[in-house]
Amino acid sequence: MFNYESRIENARKVINEADYILIGAGAGLSTAAGLEYSGDKFKNNFGDFINKYHFTDLYTATFYDFQTQEEKWAFWARLINLNRYNKEPLKLYSEIFNLIKDKDYFVLTTNVDAQFEIAGFNKENIFATQGDYGMLQCSKACHNKLYSNKELVEKWLKNTKDCKVPSNEVMYCPVCNEEMDVNLRKDAYFVEDDY
Ligand SMILES: [Zn+2]
Repeated sequence: MFNYESRIENARKVINEADYILIGAGAGLSTAAGLEYSGDKFKNNFGDFINKYHFTDLYTATFYDFQTQEEKWAFWARLINLNRYNKEPLKLYSEIFNLIKDKDYFVLTTNVDAQFEIAGFNKENIFATQGDYGMLQCSKACHNKLYSNKELVEKWLKNTKDCKVPSNEVMYCPVCNEEMDVNLRKDAYFVEDDY
């Protein structure tokens, strides 16, 4: 009775009958959807960084303490472009969207890759508690504005040489002139805006 098939069938029935859907998502969903932080995709896209910094996978690389802003943004631009600005939605996210799009739904996610948004979920109905690869903030959180990095990432990608972006393309905080950071909940300086 409670085999795999019937459990899926039951889940479909429950979803169809529900008035409201609350989705809770974490890293496993993006992994299942094909966003990898190791393996061939990592090796094919980060060869120069792997040679220079001996990175073993993309996840641990995100904790690397780059000595210069030029190196830091060359690395992050590559990662953000790969796992945040994919144009085609990931199939698994699209399938979930198709299941629930006509419902009253809300998404609570610890993923920072914006894949719900890319798949068509309404941004207003998503709370990404741990941040967003697509946003920059003051590293000292001197003010709580978030800055889209879409255009910067494109520029950084195009102009990266020897794992560095040009110095004149590094962004500094427009208020206090400190370094910028990707908007990720990793320290006490995480900025949350009104979304
Ligand atoms: Zn600042």
